[in-house]
Amino acid sequence: MRPAVLNPLFAPVTTLSGVGPKQDKLLRYLLSCSDTPRLVDLLLHLPASVIDRRHRPKVREAAAGTMVTLEVTVDRHRPSRNARAPYLVYASDETGDVVLTFFRPKGDYIEKILPVGAKRYVSGTVQMYDGIPQIVHPHPILDEAAFAKLSGIDPVYPLTEGLALGSLRRAIALALTKLPDLPEWISPEVLSRCGFPPLKEALTRVHVPQELTDILPENPFWSRLAFDELLAGQLALALVRAQLRRPAGNRHAGDGHLRHRIIDALPYALTNSQAQAMVAIAEDLEKPVRMLRLLQGDVGSGKTVVALLAAAAVAEAGKQAALMAPTEILARQHAKTIAPLAERAGMRVAILTGREKGKERRDILARLEAGEIDILIGTHALIQDDVVFKSLALAIVDEQHRFGVRERLALTSKGEAVDVLVLSATPIPRTLVLTYFGDMDISELREKPAGRQPIDTRAVADTRLGEVIDAVGRALDGGKLVYWICPLVEESEAEGTDHLTNATDRFESLRERFGDKVGLVHGKMKGSEKDDVMGRFAAHELRLLVATTVVEVGVDVPAASIMVIENAERFGLAQLHQLRGRIGRGSEASTCILLYHEPLGQMSKARLAVIRETTDGFRIAEEDLKLRGEGDVLGIRQSGLPGYRIARPEVHAQLITQARDEALRILKEDPKLKGPRSDALRCLLYLYERDEAIPLLTAG
Ligand code: ADP
Ligand code: MG
Repeated sequence: MRPAVLNPLFAPVTTLSGVGPKQDKLLRYLLSCSDTPRLVDLLLHLPASVIDRRHRPKVREAAAGTMVTLEVTVDRHRPSRNARAPYLVYASDETGDVVLTFFRPKGDYIEKILPVGAKRYVSGTVQMYDGIPQIVHPHPILDEAAFAKLSGIDPVYPLTEGLALGSLRRAIALALTKLPDLPEWISPEVLSRCGFPPLKEALTRVHVPQELTDILPENPFWSRLAFDELLAGQLALALVRAQLRRPAGNRHAGDGHLRHRIIDALPYALTNSQAQAMVAIAEDLEKPVRMLRLLQGDVGSGKTVVALLAAAAVAEAGKQAALMAPTEILARQHAKTIAPLAERAGMRVAILTGREKGKERRDILARLEAGEIDILIGTHALIQDDVVFKSLALAIVDEQHRFGVRERLALTSKGEAVDVLVLSATPIPRTLVLTYFGDMDISELREKPAGRQPIDTRAVADTRLGEVIDAVGRALDGGKLVYWICPLVEESEAEGTDHLTNATDRFESLRERFGDKVGLVHGKMKGSEKDDVMGRFAAHELRLLVATTVVEVGVDVPAASIMVIENAERFGLAQLHQLRGRIGRGSEASTCILLYHEPLGQMSKARLAVIRETTDGFRIAEEDLKLRGEGDVLGIRQSGLPGYRIARPEVHAQLITQARDEALRILKEDPKLKGPRSDALRCLLYLYERDEAIPLLTAG
């Protein structure tokens, strides 16, 4: 139950006077709420900038297009002559005249607020009309006394079309008056160490700034709010984590026989970091606590074999493992790599995706439940209700960020105290790992397996397409396998973007030139069709594969050594890196050609430069972070941290670790949140809607 003290903040915004159904709709959109926003949503909508009403030039100095506050004397009125004509008020100071313009003013509003002869402060944006400065609908219009009370600095909020700044400000100001006194949840030490003001002061000062700098995210007011949000997040994660960390009761201490067999049969030696990751995982599995480990490694760094060895370790102890991948292609790819190695060692492997149906599916499920499958590889299909394991001990989730927490939990709930291994080819910055997973253990595969060939990456303007096609022709004659990547599947997607190449057209034109050795694969094709085409490419039946980004993740055809990426300027860094990772996997030197369409924007130029310069995924992730902010590293297009409204990774990275430390300290001292600070902390969890963690406090 939400603490009653918070109720006023969770009242719908429509309870505020002046906020009706129309604003409700606009605010839902603005604040990304599926239902009517609550006051708390309004209050956590922070300003993007301020208007400085202290900027008070004389009339003659007021430049067109600037926001000013003028101190003027009202000279005369010229009321509207008809409904469409404006009501004009002439005013002046010692340097000149200004016209104040009102459309459809109500009743005697203007006579009252701008009496002739009075001195008034009027604010607004200056326009020039016949050489005379004019302000349309000045706001506010204040007398001496009211002006003296103004801070002179007004917040400007992110808006949406149809929502006026004034009405949003009014609503937020009203919401501020409803802010209850809440208990302080931040400890006195942290408050004084970080110089945080109390919550009420923080919220008030960002919405009613006293200084221009009050609204800056790095200032204590905003930072306090960011810390609250991060602390709520970290506390919730720590609670979930504490739950996961409870003694699992089952230690999976295999004797190593399967792992030895697999390693002996590998045609290569493990890299040092693969071996280290394997040891770390084995130790986790043997401990009586649940594993929560992230295995990060660049494309082609060899995560799959590490995952297989982890599965082998639980199989040695007679338990089962599941490997869930985000796409059908990737699931099959894993199965193809893993099955021969696993089966040779005596493990039983099966695959389950949306395509296994009817009897085939029933057979797999029956064998799974009977314990006759050691490792089940698949897609989302793995989390369906009727998929029952005999004893699932290890859940391996590939490309985690494409799955939500719910899917992860759905898979782990299919066994008891299931250990979790997450594979990620996008090196995730530490701050993001913390905000997503809390305190996850991390293994990194930093070395490239031996024998990797460098990739020569070049950027070429698409005006030279003909030359590139000729070069591809020569490569095909020389027996090479080539990927050709296009941003779109077909023309219909390309409205208003006619220079974007679609895969279908490109496929047609390349097939005309090169004949049957050209194939096409894209995301709109059926799973079986995709597999068929990929299979023929892997078997060298097809030699030029035109594809969309479906080949981005995990697809492994080591013999492919050339990739052309059309409209490379349209892809993000992480995506280019992932795509390029499809080549340079075999024994041959590889070439990647980035075809770009001019003119290139700053950002695209910078991205292409980075991708040409390095193939180190960790470096690329860092550059990506610098260029676009952390959200985009995960391909989530938004500024700020996904799931966080206030904290900004580029500003508050420090606070993330501090919030994590504070959350851990709180739970160490008071694991069930029963102590003196607990009411306040529960308030915090509810305020930021991290209360899903609260039932964990009572459970178990
Ligand atoms: P990732 O999933 O990390 O992108 P994979 O596991 O698909 O990478 O491995 C890429 C390729 O490298 C595979 O063909 C695999 O057989 C090979 N490989 C993995 N580990 C090694 C190693 N230690 N030495 C040589 N090749 C390796
Ligand atoms: Mg992989």
